Amino acid sequence: MTPLTARVARLRSRIQRACEDCGRDPGSIELLPVSKRQPLALVREAADLGFTRFGENYVQEGLEKIQACPDVAFILIGPLQRNKARQALQNFQEIMTVDRPELVVRLRHLAAELDLVRGVWIQVDLWGEATKIGGADAASLASVHAALEGDPRLPLQGFMAIPPPEDPGSFRALARLRDAWQEKTGRRLRVSMGMSGDLEEAIRAGTDQVRIGTAFFGTR
Ligand SMILES: *Cc1c(COP(=O)(O)O)cnc(C)c1O
Repeated sequence: MTPLTARVARLRSRIQRACEDCGRDPGSIELLPVSKRQPLALVREAADLGFTRFGENYVQEGLEKIQACPDVAFILIGPLQRNKARQALQNFQEIMTVDRPELVVRLRHLAAELDLVRGVWIQVDLWGEATKIGGADAASLASVHAALEGDPRLPLQGFMAIPPPEDPGSFRALARLRDAWQEKTGRRLRVSMGMSGDLEEAIRAGTDQVRIGTAFFGTR
């Protein structure tokens, strides 16, 4: 056993236990390893264990790993500036941090020019922490969604957030937001919430994906 396989085993049993507690199927929850500030060798090791998708926060830092691991997909989970949008679309398979109409306009323009299809997620922040981590607030969410206009090049996958872990109700609020939009759009939408410290809370509230950095790869 390597330190990585030991951590992955512990993580899987945490997910398993959390699912048992609330009667969910562990197979219905995606474990997305977050490889920011982790060495390439560890990402390679995880890819060799069979993980095929990784979350990265920084476009520039991601590029080295993306070039070295052409067999796996990288998902951008960190804030995206307009001037990095082209590189992001070219190199990442999904963008999880779409949070303002101007960014949507830029991404749609570039996706057409580059002739690419990329899944996008709307990052939401219902808790007023936007200045720190990004995310559309409740009032601007609809305008972000409207800017997408159902563009087939940027299919909406769902909603991602970093709910404040001290407030369990925040996880349920995000799940309800997803339910409401699912009803409104008639499309299946996923919700991505839960990190190393709060994945149990997120699973209980109904997350479809947990994004795990330190509990997967170790401390950064
Ligand atoms: C770093 C990061 C994670 C993973 O955080 P851990 O606490 O290390 O599990 C998840 N989501 C986002 C957006 C992050 O920036």
